[in-house]
Amino acid sequence: MTDKINIAIYWGAGCGGCDVALLDIDEKILGLGEMANIVFWPIAVDGKTKDVEAMPDKSIVATLYNGAIRNSENEHMAKLLRQKSLLMVSFGSCACYGGIPGLGNVTNRKGIMDLVYTQLPTSDNVEKVFPQIITHTKDGEIDLPEMYDTVKTLDQCIDVDYYMPGCPPTTNLINEFLGVVEKHVKEGAPLPPKGAMIASNKTLCDECKRKKSVKKLDHIYSPHEIAIDQEKCMLEQGIICLGSSTRAGCGAKCLEGNQPCRGCMGPTAEVLDQGGSMLSALASVLKVDDKEALLNENDIAELMAQVKDPLGTFYCYTLPKSIIKRKVTERKPFKKEA
Ligand code: SF4
Ligand code: SF4
Ligand code: SF4
Repeated sequence: MTDKINIAIYWGAGCGGCDVALLDIDEKILGLGEMANIVFWPIAVDGKTKDVEAMPDKSIVATLYNGAIRNSENEHMAKLLRQKSLLMVSFGSCACYGGIPGLGNVTNRKGIMDLVYTQLPTSDNVEKVFPQIITHTKDGEIDLPEMYDTVKTLDQCIDVDYYMPGCPPTTNLINEFLGVVEKHVKEGAPLPPKGAMIASNKTLCDECKRKKSVKKLDHIYSPHEIAIDQEKCMLEQGIICLGSSTRAGCGAKCLEGNQPCRGCMGPTAEVLDQGGSMLSALASVLKVDDKEALLNENDIAELMAQVKDPLGTFYCYTLPKSIIKRKVTERKPFKKEA
C-alpha cells in the first residue's frame, strides 16, 4: 500500500509501560498496521539511530515519544525525531510532565550515582567505580550517554504538537488519537489544533462515581491504615486523593481498584501546578472555617505532618513541570548590586 503513513515510537527515560500500552489496543493494532508503516520502534523492532538519521526530514508523519529527558541520548533522539517528524506526540506522563523519573529532581546526578554505586546494600563497590561517559578498553572506546542533573519534560527540550497523558495512556485515549489520525489520512479530516491535550477537559472528580458530601478532615491516613469504604469519596475518609487537581480521561481506574488517585493524568487546563492546587484543596477541607477555628495552628501542622511523603504525594508525576521544577542543590552567594 503506497498511501500508508510512517509512524515512529520511541522511549526516553521511562519504564516501557507506554510501549506495552500501545500493544494493549488489541485488534486496533492491526488497523494501525494497515494505516501505517512503523519505521522505528526500538522496543519492538530492531532499528538503529543511523536508520533514523538516513530518513528524509519530515518523512515520519507522527512520532509517539514516551519517557522523560534524563540523559544526552534521550535528548539527542528527541531532537533527531523532531527533525524527521511532522507531528511529535508527548506520549505518557513521563514525557508530558517528567513522571516518576522526574522525582529524581530532588537530587542531582552525583547524589544518585553516590547512592546507587556506593550506599545501597546491593552496591558491592569497594573501589568506588562509577560509570564513565567514555571508557578506553584494549578493544577501543565504549561510550555511555551522559546523565543530566535535572530531568526534563519532552516539551522543555523540543517543540511538541500533541500531549497524551497517563501512566500509561489508556487504550481509549490511544484509540481516540489513532482514529483521528486515520480519518485525517483517509478522509482528509482536520487534525486537532497544535498543543491539544488528548484527554478530557474535566477533572477526575467529575468522572469518579464515589459519593461526595461535605469534607472536613481531622486526620490523614495512608491507604493501608484504614478499611477503605468503596462507595465514599477518598478525601472524606481522610485519604489524600488528587482527583480535584487531576485531568479526567482514565475512567477513574485507581478509584475502581479502591485506591486514591496519585495524579498521573496531570493537571487540568485550569490548574497551573498540580501539587500546589492539591495542597490548596486539602487546606480547604481541614476542619477550620471562617467563624470558628476548630483546629489551631499546631493542630494544622500536626495534621499536615501526617502526610508521609509530601513531595511524592503532591508531585508524584509532575515535579519537572511544576513551578518549583527541582530542589535547589547549590545556592549562589547573593551579590549586592553596586
Ligand atoms: S508514563 Fe508510566 S508507563 Fe509510561 S514510561 Fe512513564 S512510568 Fe512507564
Ligand atoms: S477526591 Fe478522589 S475519591 Fe473523591 S470524588 Fe475526587 S476522585 Fe473521587
Ligand atoms: S485514577 Fe489518577 S493515578 Fe489512577 S490512572 Fe487515573 S489519573 Fe492516574
